[in-house]
Amino acid sequence: MPKPNQHIIPRDQHSVSREFISENALKVLYRLHKDGYQAFLVGGGVRDILLGLRPKDFDIATNATPEEVKKLFRNCRIIGRRFRLAHILYGRDIIEVATFRAHCDDNIKQRNDGMIVRDNVYGTVEEDAIRRDFTVNALYYNIADFSIHDYCGGLADLAKRQLKMIGDPVERYKEDPVRMLRAVRLGCKLNLTIEDNTAKPINDMAYLLEGIPAARLWEEYKKMFLAGRAQRTFNQLKSFGLLEYLFPQTSKHIIHNDDFAEFVALALENTDRRVNEDKSINPAFLLAVMLWQSLMQRTDKLVNKGMHFNDAFYKSFNPTINEQSQTISIMKRYAVVMQDIWALQLRLKFNFGKRVWSVLDHPRFRAGYDFLVLRAEVDPSLKPLADWWTEFQEASREQRIKMINQNKPKGQKRRPRKRKSRASH
Ligand code: ATP
Ligand code: MG
Repeated sequence: MPKPNQHIIPRDQHSVSREFISENALKVLYRLHKDGYQAFLVGGGVRDILLGLRPKDFDIATNATPEEVKKLFRNCRIIGRRFRLAHILYGRDIIEVATFRAHCDDNIKQRNDGMIVRDNVYGTVEEDAIRRDFTVNALYYNIADFSIHDYCGGLADLAKRQLKMIGDPVERYKEDPVRMLRAVRLGCKLNLTIEDNTAKPINDMAYLLEGIPAARLWEEYKKMFLAGRAQRTFNQLKSFGLLEYLFPQTSKHIIHNDDFAEFVALALENTDRRVNEDKSINPAFLLAVMLWQSLMQRTDKLVNKGMHFNDAFYKSFNPTINEQSQTISIMKRYAVVMQDIWALQLRLKFNFGKRVWSVLDHPRFRAGYDFLVLRAEVDPSLKPLADWWTEFQEASREQRIKMINQNKPKGQKRRPRKRKSRASH
């Protein structure tokens, strides 16, 4: 690792003001400082304020050990096995406090492939800086004198609007391949260009994602796709060759099927719009879209073997979700939502009489309907059905009854109930 260049920028020469830092984060910083510990705001918190953005969360770095932090705060919980971190809880707001960690060869255990499996040795603030990923993430705001400590040239890179890996990118990706995803995600989120040497190795190293636990990739999936930059991130992941290791099924189908690619693109755009309008989003919806073509293909295969379409369709739910879960684990509660959305695609097909009401009452109706509307955008034959449901939702009860009756195809009559003939007994 390179020797860090210490660089301290006094308060009057930078734009990080306490008014941009959350009250709870300030409380934690002050408390640590009052007790004689070093306390810095670090990572996204400092970076985003310097970029004029509102930070998503505030991370704090200190020389106090997690146990020492716990002694200072009643509302503190120690978490993590690989890295022990202190979480200070203020209702739903969590302030993460990490003890400075060192990144030197004696302290970390690496597997043969270079991946770090243990690195929990405490260090100094300088050492803490160089084990971070990008230079812009290694800026420290010191609560003692409100200065910024820049050990890795992060301020210069921010000015150039570039995301640059600290140290040798190839080594750093080997240590933790998720950094490739972070490069793409942060580049898209912050509108930063990924510096050439940081970007270059990604294509060849993308396969290293195979070694990342599916549960960790689920966390990354949420950060990449539910933060208002899904469309851009998706396209970048594709061009860096990372997409196929995250969504192998989606990645395969978008190459051969333009309509499906368009369907996914529309869903990504929609998700971004909803996030940016502060509307709720369920992580399952996008997954249901991404796996739709694979579900259809599985269904077709079973139908070709002679199975009834509906049976084939339902039977394909689990294998489709399970295959995706090999790379990004999908928790049961999300898998259930995906299945509901898919099942509703059948139930939304013209149903008559009482069934329409039960579809409308389905707890996932809205998601199922949104899914249908998206499908209709790439498949015009579905447009009348989607429009019917749009109109139906806006209609009064009387109009709805009329719509249901009008909707009966000509000539269709209720099948007469079979009466048991008493005479036959
Ligand atoms: P966000 O705005 O999404 O929170 P962030 O950069 O703050 O972005 P976090 O996941 O909150 O991301 O991480 C906080 C800090 O921890 C980062 O800024 C970086 O300094 C460090 N960090 C996180 N993940 C890694 C990693 N895989 N390797 C090295 N450093 C990391
Ligand atoms: Mg953060």
